[in-house]
Amino acid sequence: MQTDYIIVGQGICGTLLSWCLMKEGKQVVVIDEAQPFTAGKVASGLINPVTGMRVVKSWMIDELLPEAIAMYDEISRQLDIRIINPYGILEFYPDTKYRDTFTERATQYTDYLHTDVNTADWESKFNFHYGIGRISSTAVINIRLLQDTWRRSLNNAGQLIEEPFDLSALKVTPAKVTYKDITAQKIVFCDGVGGINNPYFSILPFSINKGEVLLASIPDLPRDFVYKHGLKIAPWEDDLFWIGSSFEWTFDNTDTSTAFREKTEWQLRNWLKLPYTIEDQWASVRPATVDHKPFVGFHPLYPSVGIFNGMGAKGCSQTPFFARSLAQNMVNGTPVHKEADIARYTKVLSKQT
Ligand SMILES: Cc1cc2nc3c(=O)[nH]c(=O)nc-3n(C[C@H](O)[C@H](O)[C@H](O)COP(=O)(O)OP(=O)(O)OC[C@H]3O[C@@H](n4cnc5c(N)ncnc54)[C@H](O)[C@@H]3O)c2cc1C
Repeated sequence: MQTDYIIVGQGICGTLLSWCLMKEGKQVVVIDEAQPFTAGKVASGLINPVTGMRVVKSWMIDELLPEAIAMYDEISRQLDIRIINPYGILEFYPDTKYRDTFTERATQYTDYLHTDVNTADWESKFNFHYGIGRISSTAVINIRLLQDTWRRSLNNAGQLIEEPFDLSALKVTPAKVTYKDITAQKIVFCDGVGGINNPYFSILPFSINKGEVLLASIPDLPRDFVYKHGLKIAPWEDDLFWIGSSFEWTFDNTDTSTAFREKTEWQLRNWLKLPYTIEDQWASVRPATVDHKPFVGFHPLYPSVGIFNGMGAKGCSQTPFFARSLAQNMVNGTPVHKEADIARYTKVLSKQT
């Protein structure tokens, strides 16, 4: 069987890259092992343009956001699903210093930050002492729905192979790759945290981290905002809310923990006045990088082998822009954005044999 490209992994990276390549008229085969708790299946899907204690805009957000919304919108219409939920964020200030910083930044980032929240509306629902700010131009992306629907579409078209990728069955030359009976011009690994064990790319500076979340029913909480106060409470499927999440850089398993549940419930009880019921708890691992920039591009020694990975905690905002960029690189040879291009690690990758 002949195809243009093989893609390994169908998280948000594999999904959007395959979609972009097919939009360019290319043929794609996607190989994905159906793992239950991948990053994309556990993520809340929030796009938040302004983050951190310094209340600053995320890297490249003014370019990433319009591209993300346009691409999710186009895919939604094509697949007849709703994947963009335009919820605003209510940011409960943790202290006066943060409130002052937020208020000052609101005069600069007028598209994103607002100080117009009527706090009296929220006093019956939350305990808080320092006021509430509002962040707009935000969205919650239903990654699960996107991945599941795209998977069905690939499967129906005979373009999905559901199996663990078998590296011993891959043959690589500079001009083409062969995997079992499939021959393609290039292969791109979109294998998320699997990248740390991928011999072509494991040498790259990944900085993976574990995150846990709770799924809860909170019947009296309005479903048109994401609420932030250390914890994040975001509307989820089946009338549930997603509550999380932790960031652990040192861990010896990817299981859920009693410690996370106890700590999160304690924080929740101190903040939320409404009754809730915990329905589930999940854990996964974010494929993050040391310099907080994605890994995009082709191996300097094996030009037919590429990577699209390293989205960290920002898969929803970053992936559309870089999926389009990588697809155009593959089809037209246009350069990938310098800060994301793995050419920045040419020296490291060239040491491999
Ligand atoms: C708790 C938590 C909360 C998060 N919240 C947010 C958020 O609010 N907003 C946001 O933007 N991002 C968030 N993220 C980050 C986001 O989930 C990731 O950036 C993104 O999902 C990474 O996508 P990916 O396609 O690289 O990896 P993944 O989603 O992990 O997908 C990789 C795919 O590759 C497949 N695969 C791997 N190895 C193989 C193999 N050998 N053979 C076959 N298939 C293979 C896997 O089965 C999987 O389908 C969160 C992550 C976590 C864990």
